Amino acid sequence: MIISNFIDGTFTPPIEGRMMDDTNPANGELIAKIPRASISDVDAAVLAANQALPKWAALTMLQRADWLDKIADALEEIKEEIAQIESLDTGKPISLARSVDATRSISNFRFFAKFARGQEPLTFEMSDATNFVHTSPLGIVGLITPWNLPLYLLTWKVAPALLMGNCIIAKPSEITPLSADLLAKTMQRINLPEGVFNLVHGLGPEVGQAILENPHISGISFTGGTSTGRIVARTAAPLFKKLSLELGGKNATIILDDADLDTVVPGAVRAAFTNSGQVCLCGSRILIHHSKYDEFCKRFVEQVDAMIVGDPSDESTQMGPVISMEHLQKIESYIDLAIEEGGEILSGGSRAMTGQVGPNPAGAFIRPTVIGGLEHLSRTSTEEIFGPVVTLHSFSTDDEAIEMANCTEYGLAGSIWTEDAERGKELAKRVESGIVWVNTWLHRDLRTPFGGVKNSGVGREGGRWSLSFFSEMTNVCVKH
Ligand code: NDP
Repeated sequence: MIISNFIDGTFTPPIEGRMMDDTNPANGELIAKIPRASISDVDAAVLAANQALPKWAALTMLQRADWLDKIADALEEIKEEIAQIESLDTGKPISLARSVDATRSISNFRFFAKFARGQEPLTFEMSDATNFVHTSPLGIVGLITPWNLPLYLLTWKVAPALLMGNCIIAKPSEITPLSADLLAKTMQRINLPEGVFNLVHGLGPEVGQAILENPHISGISFTGGTSTGRIVARTAAPLFKKLSLELGGKNATIILDDADLDTVVPGAVRAAFTNSGQVCLCGSRILIHHSKYDEFCKRFVEQVDAMIVGDPSDESTQMGPVISMEHLQKIESYIDLAIEEGGEILSGGSRAMTGQVGPNPAGAFIRPTVIGGLEHLSRTSTEEIFGPVVTLHSFSTDDEAIEMANCTEYGLAGSIWTEDAERGKELAKRVESGIVWVNTWLHRDLRTPFGGVKNSGVGREGGRWSLSFFSEMTNVCVKH
């Protein structure tokens, strides 16, 4: 398969002709040749977006909401293809690609279309005047996204950006470009006006950087690692671009003394290992009240040992490979570090597939790994590994649990498990984090604010926060 950039409604090869490989993490085989685009391609995309902007911005929000529904309808027709291609490109189990990636990518468009139809004009009455809040598009926006949930995270930005009248330059991760290509094909199939959605494939420091530096791009919505986020902020802030940063996490799963382990154990397994632990919201530190520690440990390890790691295309597979061999090596270096730091491997810890039919040895497979015995301030327990590795820690009081939960540079998400929902809710307010679930995980209402505190990000996405990010507001004050 050879894929191209999508600029001005047309699939075009990169101007400088450079291409690179996209491989399947489950077997190391080449899947596609993709453009390694350059600044010239970004310039061409910006020119196209600039030409398309006036007409797109002149539509009403309701007309653009109809476009979002059209996109959703068209994606619905290729839902299985989306799941298959996402599973191939990322190595995630096909069942997960269906239930999360394909389903939620479509629902992002549906949600924002419906949300737009519920918006009321914003006015503020004074005794002698009325204020009318007028929204206009930011203009051209750059959307830069990671490899873990490629289409889901891209559409989460594309839908509100289009709705608010912006034209888009998108750059997916070069590791997982295929579903973005499918989205571009969908835009072409439904005749979305040329230049409204442009896709430029390539490397972060080349294409990503060119997007950040382009003076005609007014806003950047970035999801990725915290260290890349620093580069994004450093480049875009002096140009006064509007910036949304959704960054890394090291999220705590807190299990209180009154928690029901029948519910908690499967919940904690899911929070730790969904998508091979490669979800920014994954609970990679489990903090357990000392009275429950031994029993939790035993039952958690039993369930992790039983997880089926294997071929992503197999319907029974629960965990596929991690995204690449390089990433696998990074994860293994953290397991080595954990041992150096005094940790004990309670499950997994190696590539060996003991007791199971092993997946392809050329794939980036590792067993889900559980580590006990580490200090909560150790590097393994505080740095983002972004893989199927979880550390277990015991605490004695709620205060200690909160102190441990808040001890990292991150503050993205977390969960609290208790039979007393009110207690959980009160404790949740003390977790330094953008999202806290009580007795659940990854339970998402798209109207709610999504984002992190501390080094996990700046700004919020979701519902009205996304609409606000992708627009400018003018307050018009009319004297009676
Ligand atoms: P990276 O930060 O490496 O990359 C994210 C995107 O930024 C990619 O498209 C990448 O391109 C691009 N990029 C890299 N360098 C630059 C640059 N100098 N200028 C502009 N763009 C650049 O993250 P990963 O793809 O490795 O994703 C994993 C990270 O994402 C984890 O830390 C995870 O926690 C975080 N994440 C956060 C989420 C949130 O909502 N808070 C959700 C999902 C993931 P390329 O791939 O070509 O390098």
